[in-house]
Amino acid sequence: MQRRAAARARTAPALAARLPAYYVAFDLLQQDGTELLTLPQVERRRRLEVLFAARALTAPWTLCPMTTDIAKAREWLETWTDVSGVEGLVIRSRDITSFQSRGAGEEMQSQKVSRYGTIRAGPMTRSTVITQGVKITTVCEACGGMLIRDAGQFIDRGRLWWGTEGTCQTCPVAWCEEDSGGATPEAIRQALLTEHGPARLLLIEPEASRVTVLRVLREGHERSLAQARAMAEELRTTGLVGTLVEMELIAAQLRHRSVAVTVGSSPS
Ligand SMILES: [Zn+2]
Repeated sequence: MQRRAAARARTAPALAARLPAYYVAFDLLQQDGTELLTLPQVERRRRLEVLFAARALTAPWTLCPMTTDIAKAREWLETWTDVSGVEGLVIRSRDITSFQSRGAGEEMQSQKVSRYGTIRAGPMTRSTVITQGVKITTVCEACGGMLIRDAGQFIDRGRLWWGTEGTCQTCPVAWCEEDSGGATPEAIRQALLTEHGPARLLLIEPEASRVTVLRVLREGHERSLAQARAMAEELRTTGLVGTLVEMELIAAQLRHRSVAVTVGSSPS
């Protein structure tokens, strides 16, 4: 295309014949003046295929290949990337509604499935083991429409993280994303506790070293000694209660110091 774009009127027809261009369509965002942004991707794709069939569109009109077969996608990724002009795969959730404008590099990364069960961009490490997510419905700041947020907590590289990402059901702004260490916002904690119920962490041997337990409870956490002592007391008696991910993190840290613990669901 770059050579053709630079061509002058005299040479353009010859170059067009020698280097034909194709219009490759992979999504249908508007049809007969109707915005389709709120339809799920799977439905937009169906309409695009119907359009190609109904109008018997052939080259230079090209329907971008699509598959839901992961083995086939992997084969494409491994073989097609050698073909000039093919840069990679765009991987999307079938029920994703709004068109999400992302850079090509981010598209490539979004082949990884989210910790919360949806497509997300960005790297995800293999060491993520414990994760819990919840859907929270809020108001979109851009348009006032309904924003569905996936929020969750997870443990990665021995630390507790929280994250949230939102998709507006109405406007194409559609995407926001935060990821942070540090304290999980209380709204997310409460949503997780409501959705999944609290988890309870218990010492298997209540007389386990108090010094070790206290050290673990203070280490890497912004807790006062008094707070840590109160938690240690709960741990020894009724059990410590929190979100599953919070309790699993403390459990892992205690086990690392050879303190035997169990994590169970907490009767409310
Ligand atoms: Zn919106």
